[in-house]
Amino acid sequence: MNKIIERLRNRGLKPTSQRIAVLKNLTERRDHPTASDVYNDVVKKYPTISKATVYSTLKLLSEKGEIQELSIRKMGEACFDSILELHHHFLCRECGKIIDIYTNCRNNCVIIKAGEIDGNIVEEIQAYMYGLCSDCAKKNN
Ligand SMILES: [Zn+2]
Ligand SMILES: [Zn+2]
Repeated sequence: MNKIIERLRNRGLKPTSQRIAVLKNLTERRDHPTASDVYNDVVKKYPTISKATVYSTLKLLSEKGEIQELSIRKMGEACFDSILELHHHFLCRECGKIIDIYTNCRNNCVIIKAGEIDGNIVEEIQAYMYGLCSDCAKKNN
């Protein structure tokens, strides 16, 4: 719990109980939840918290760089990730699961190697992959 408070303070955020609850929930899961997913969990412990509060807290935390908001969408809703280290995401079109993909292609990536594209300097790439996850692929066979 102290770690969560410290993380909020380091970002210049007052560690309110709601912010603590939201950030704690996000750091304890690896499923890249939407604001609704986080709300459904947090509300069990904090019945007075609103979905709007959870959403604005997640927005604030990503603006401050404490978490990241993914461009990938689950049922049209933004997904959040507490892992800031560069990694890619795979979305399963069958079960909607989002999987972390760690692949170090920095050294042989043709886009990074180009250094710049049309005058734009490429510093990092985050890929979004879509398809069938290994579980769903097995079921379909
Ligand atoms: Zn799947
Ligand atoms: Zn991730």
